[in-house]
Amino acid sequence: MSQFYKPDRGDRWNYGGAAWKLSRSKIDLFLQCPKCFYVDNKLGTKRPPGYPFNLNSAVDTLFKKEFDVHREAGTKHPIMEEYGIDVVPFKHENMDTWREVFEGIQHVHKATGMTIMGAVDDIWVNPEGELIVVDYKSTSKDGKLDKLDADWHIGYKRQMEVYQWLLRQNGFKVSNTGYFVYANASTKEEAFNAKLIFDVTLIPYKGDDSWVEPTILEAKACLEDDRVPKADDDCDYCRYREFVGKKLLNSKREKSVPTSHAPKVVKKETLF
Ligand code: SF4
Repeated sequence: MSQFYKPDRGDRWNYGGAAWKLSRSKIDLFLQCPKCFYVDNKLGTKRPPGYPFNLNSAVDTLFKKEFDVHREAGTKHPIMEEYGIDVVPFKHENMDTWREVFEGIQHVHKATGMTIMGAVDDIWVNPEGELIVVDYKSTSKDGKLDKLDADWHIGYKRQMEVYQWLLRQNGFKVSNTGYFVYANASTKEEAFNAKLIFDVTLIPYKGDDSWVEPTILEAKACLEDDRVPKADDDCDYCRYREFVGKKLLNSKREKSVPTSHAPKVVKKETLF
């Protein structure tokens, strides 16, 4: 991953820089760990990324194409019929922009001056003209996926609530109920045969975006503070980082790195 990872991002992309925005994933990072959020956004070093989930992205892309056919025609997708919900995909000139990762739905938050943004997967609309936030998800698990009750699902819920908040700030009437369109790949087939068979379910979620505004204010206060927030006592990565840093600084030796891509000698003070 090294060619993709820039551990020292340019100032333009950090807090205070012209290109910096508070994305919904950054809001989530702030809630997970203010220290990681601070180091990323203020000091310009983000956590190394994981490998991209290409299969999930492929499912998202195909879902988008599928729902876009009904958006264009103004008709219901079969899953809306199956679940008996009176909605159609929302048609709007900004739909493509709202789905763009580096654009998304944006709002300049008056109290902080920060631009808040998030890119949605889809938006539907009901006969009352209320917008319904929709998120596509894909996985492979035993059993039917019809609820989001694991602790880690809090991230999915917050994600939906930030999108609901953003649409409201843009003047739209938004339903508290959003939907997760969940594709679950079956492993019970006889063979792969170059095909994955998915069971698609619709999981409703009633959002409450009342936490978004105070959290934005807290995130701003964090970024304006010169003190680095305290690390989470339960996070082993920070303890690992601190211990490795101390041990390397105390080490007397410098070692060559045994790969052709790395520098021949790594000076201990450059590591941490
Ligand atoms: S405690 Fe964990 S999550 Fe927080 S800054 Fe350290 S590594 Fe990041």
